[in-house]
Amino acid sequence: MSVSDPVRLREIVDEICERMAGETERGRVADYIPELAKIDPGRFALVLSTAEGNVIAGGDADTRFSIQSISKAFALAVALGRIGDQLWTRVGREPSGDPFNSIVQLEHERGIPRNPFINAGAIAVTDAILSRSEPREALGQILQFVRFLADDDDIAIDPAVAKSETETGWRNAALANFMRDFGTIQRHPEKVIGTYFHHCAIAMTPRQLAQAGRFLAFDGALHPGGPRAIAPRMARQINALMLTCGHYDGSGEFAFRVGLPGKSGVGGGILAVAPGRAAIGCWSPGLNAVGNSQLASMALEMLADRTGWSVFASN
Ligand code: GLN
Repeated sequence: MSVSDPVRLREIVDEICERMAGETERGRVADYIPELAKIDPGRFALVLSTAEGNVIAGGDADTRFSIQSISKAFALAVALGRIGDQLWTRVGREPSGDPFNSIVQLEHERGIPRNPFINAGAIAVTDAILSRSEPREALGQILQFVRFLADDDDIAIDPAVAKSETETGWRNAALANFMRDFGTIQRHPEKVIGTYFHHCAIAMTPRQLAQAGRFLAFDGALHPGGPRAIAPRMARQINALMLTCGHYDGSGEFAFRVGLPGKSGVGGGILAVAPGRAAIGCWSPGLNAVGNSQLASMALEMLADRTGWSVFASN
């Protein structure tokens, strides 16, 4: 039976936090963005924001971290809200089976990225948002949207992280230039990746992340019956993509072990969604071999096991 009792959920979160504190295999902090290399790998947090309106938080729940690729889910929601299904003319919906920053499939697929969650796809989504606004405006819109979702204005872009990636993000520059040549993106590649780096540099706490994810757990609304952020159909579509593509070439493994839509970032965060039940923010900076948080993946596997929240379960 699926668990919704807050007392039992509290016990589960405490058990997971205790177990993770004792883990010695914590993975490796991303260092290809120099600013991210400074983060203490010993951090861990798990926060549930439930349908009943409870927030159950454990560990470093109020420490800000760089959400990185988790921002791709928010950017996708903004782009779908603005241009709707037209977005799918420039980005696909299939898992790539390749690393997040891979370029190989782009040539075979005529510059159309496989999905919106690999870097190339998120850069194309960012360009779609830029078709109607300038970078500063577009960033303002994404940030405002995230603040609205979390119901918290204390969420901002970390300029040091954005600068650090702007100075070193040559691979993303290559992806953007390649797609510009195919016509997948229309704005100047430098403008597009500048905007992309900045939304990846949004910093928030695991508690804020869990709150910001509620719209995906509750059919596009901030809580069951609450204010709507996006159409229910779009929330379902984003969840489907998170389940199949949210962890890059680790997506199959995450679906197998956890069974929940999830979006990871190289800052060590994972936003997971238990539809109808809860949005989950989990964070630990050490990454596994495919660039997903080692401990957050383990913690979510334990959570799904203890709660029965897998989307593949019947209860
Ligand atoms: N900003 C990072 C990049 O483009 C995001 C990657 C990630 O979180 N997987 O490389």
